[in-house]
Amino acid sequence: MGLSREDVDSFYYGFSNEVVWPLFHDLQTRCRFEPEYWKSYRRVNGLFARAVSRYTRAEDFVWVHDYQMIPVASMLRSSGVKRNCVFFLHIPFPPPDIFLKLPWREELLKDFLEYDFVGFQTMRDRRNFTDCLRALIPDWRVSGRGPVATVSSGGRRIRVAAMPISIDYRSFRDMAKSARVSRILKDLKRQLPREKIAIGVDRLDYTKGIPQRIRAFGEALRSFPELRERITFIQIVVPSREDVPAYHELKEEIERLVSSVNGEFSTPGWVPVHYMYKSIPREELVAYYRLADIALVTPLKDGMNLVAKEYCACQVDDDGVLILGEFAGAAAQMHRGAILVNSYDIQGMAKAINEAVNMPVEKRKGRMRRLRAGIRRQNVFWWVDNYLRASTGKALVDFPETDMAPVFHALIRRSPESQEG
Ligand code: UDP
Repeated sequence: MGLSREDVDSFYYGFSNEVVWPLFHDLQTRCRFEPEYWKSYRRVNGLFARAVSRYTRAEDFVWVHDYQMIPVASMLRSSGVKRNCVFFLHIPFPPPDIFLKLPWREELLKDFLEYDFVGFQTMRDRRNFTDCLRALIPDWRVSGRGPVATVSSGGRRIRVAAMPISIDYRSFRDMAKSARVSRILKDLKRQLPREKIAIGVDRLDYTKGIPQRIRAFGEALRSFPELRERITFIQIVVPSREDVPAYHELKEEIERLVSSVNGEFSTPGWVPVHYMYKSIPREELVAYYRLADIALVTPLKDGMNLVAKEYCACQVDDDGVLILGEFAGAAAQMHRGAILVNSYDIQGMAKAINEAVNMPVEKRKGRMRRLRAGIRRQNVFWWVDNYLRASTGKALVDFPETDMAPVFHALIRRSPESQEG
């Protein structure tokens, strides 16, 4: 089964990326509520549901991921196919005053209720979801206050949970210590100024706050002249969704801002902003993480933001400062060790950059140790294990090997316990 060009345009670029993506990131003015997109979204999800029913058996456990596929369980049910179906939303869930703008708000909310278990990144997302339920479908009752709550109506009960996703901490840490990364790091250090390095790593996306961040860096150089020639900012942007006009415009805006900051502050031998628009291999990325004294992770809104966690995992000498936007899901877990900023506040971010540059080494290390300990404990294996325990009552290791999808085989060989240390 393949999707036609029209399906990709209206289901993927259309409804998924011009309706759900901006709406769920609180950017409703970017939405294009085209009725055709909605029809296509549901039709294509019907195709996914058909594939699920074809390739699974009644006793299989089906774990559906992310905003492109919210209606899969509804589609299965409406075609009479019974499966134990659970869902995880990787992006945020918006509050009612934003969600209610969606012309198909009740239908989409009901699609979530067809799963037996729905996972969100943070408590805030889960609360937004239950607030929308109360506003739109009040006959569903919400009970429970911890990470896992129950919503019920008539005879039907489902569970909704906050389950923050994470990274394979050990693989990043070990790669950061590897000889190959040390070699790349040495080369980078030879080529770049000896001064402080700040880094930003993002997919090209208007939710990532890249223009605001570049402006904040310029503002830091303006407000704190002693930072000039003492800090260099490397912004890596990974190409994404270039077929959507908004992304193309964003790229041009970033390029204009980089050249404006560099035009204002460059001196012989020092270029303040190094801008790369490309995807880079993992080992090189890890070397950049290690190189950076400061990471600027300042999305306007983000489900989680794994770059924040990867950066910390790679600080194998416990040194480095994370400047983290309050509206990233990661802030719920990392707010104590990071410098938190409002990603819309240019001057606030400029002050945070100055604070990070001048933070004493003992304070930096104490904060980074705390951040790394949190990610080491609550790593991706902890996440998958918790998710499965909460949604099926079983731990990852309890799944019979023969019944598991290939991705689980790789995970089970490293149980959460073996990740510690
Ligand atoms: N990344 C990548 N290629 C690169 C640079 C980064 O694949 O050239 C990865 C990065 O390691 C991270 C992911 O892209 O795992 C970005 O995830 P994040 O949660 O920060 O944002 P998303 O892109 O999922 O919105």
